[in-house]
Amino acid sequence: MAIDKTKYDETKPHQVALLQLEIAAERLGLDEGMKLKLQNPKRILIVNFPVKMDNGELRNFTGYRIQHSLTRGPGKGGIRYHPSVDLEEVKALAAWMTWKAAVVNIPYGGAKGGVQCNPKEMSKGELERLTRRYTWEIAPLIGPEKDIPAPDVYTNAETMAWIMDTYSTLQGYSVPGVVTGKPVAIGGSLGRNEATAQGCVYAIEEALKHLGMDLEKATVAIQGYGNAGSNAAQIIHKVGAIVIAVSDSKGGIYNADGLDPARVQKHKEKTDSVVNYGEGDNITNEELLAMDCDILIPAAMENQITKENAHEVKAKLIAEAANGPTTPSADDILYDKGIFIIPDILCNAGGVTVSYFEWVQNIQSLFWTLEEVNNQLAKIMKRSFWDVAAITKKEKVHMRTAAWMLGVGRVAEATRLRGIYP
Ligand code: GLU
Repeated sequence: MAIDKTKYDETKPHQVALLQLEIAAERLGLDEGMKLKLQNPKRILIVNFPVKMDNGELRNFTGYRIQHSLTRGPGKGGIRYHPSVDLEEVKALAAWMTWKAAVVNIPYGGAKGGVQCNPKEMSKGELERLTRRYTWEIAPLIGPEKDIPAPDVYTNAETMAWIMDTYSTLQGYSVPGVVTGKPVAIGGSLGRNEATAQGCVYAIEEALKHLGMDLEKATVAIQGYGNAGSNAAQIIHKVGAIVIAVSDSKGGIYNADGLDPARVQKHKEKTDSVVNYGEGDNITNEELLAMDCDILIPAAMENQITKENAHEVKAKLIAEAANGPTTPSADDILYDKGIFIIPDILCNAGGVTVSYFEWVQNIQSLFWTLEEVNNQLAKIMKRSFWDVAAITKKEKVHMRTAAWMLGVGRVAEATRLRGIYP
């Protein structure tokens, strides 16, 4: 039976996640009961809590922690601080974590958390108080064997240190394994900060081999200059590609001869944006997505490449460092244009993969070298890329559906093997 895509509102991330699941479930021939189990998050916690602001006022915030699946292991997924955070967004992000962990075959379920707030308008003290109180609110759900948070949009190693400290204080002893993406000095892993970007570049290298293209001198445009985007720019620049355009929420910059990503980073740290970087022209985010380049890396938010602008995309390869940047209708347009997509649940899985390494190091109380971390990461990203590519051939589907078939198939198999209690 053909899937009626018009039933899904593609402007909503969770609807997109449900449609993507529907497509994979049909291909896998999953029965209705299994589909229902995989559609719905296992557990949703919504918390409302007060934070004392610097001016003495009390403000109330709403936060979420959602465990989509615990079938293949503890919940795993980041915590997002952003004005867009709501129940629907966190539901989608939690489900994407389930499929992502399964695609790269690490022993986790999927979870996600977030607080609706605007961190750009908050002081460090306010963010720390918000983080500690939010941690206290979700403490019953998290723990090294239960659900392990990590950084996501507008959270970082410092946020993880506050979570680890608050949780440890509640337990009465130090529990480094409750979060990943911590500072290295308190049990973080070498390479974790750059892992999403590094994994994305490993996946790009494999995709280019698959397409018979060269990374040396390939032109790259990157949307988003946060942790994933800025590190991807610096790593891909180092291995010989030319980063011709980058952007952030305020706009973008372009230089046909190539930007120096490390210098752009310094400019952003100074001025809060990549815009007005001296050695290049200012461009809009729309112009960046339509850039004539070999590789486009969306590394910002969901719902960026849609049916409205997909026909403008000129890149040959799209590497999704962000979660959910492309809608299903946009996928169809991009495929018609012959554009190759490395889908988010494969392309950005380097972050959660090195989170897994960090958690393993914490459990064993030992530390890996950066070389060990990156070697293991490369192995997993390469293996996963070719696992997905093999499915595209066998099933005659595009990369996204293949990745979903692999992820959903593994979770469905684990569900069947465990059986239903009682
Ligand atoms: N927030 C990242 C993601 O979306 C990392 C999650 C993790 O390391 O648990 O994949």
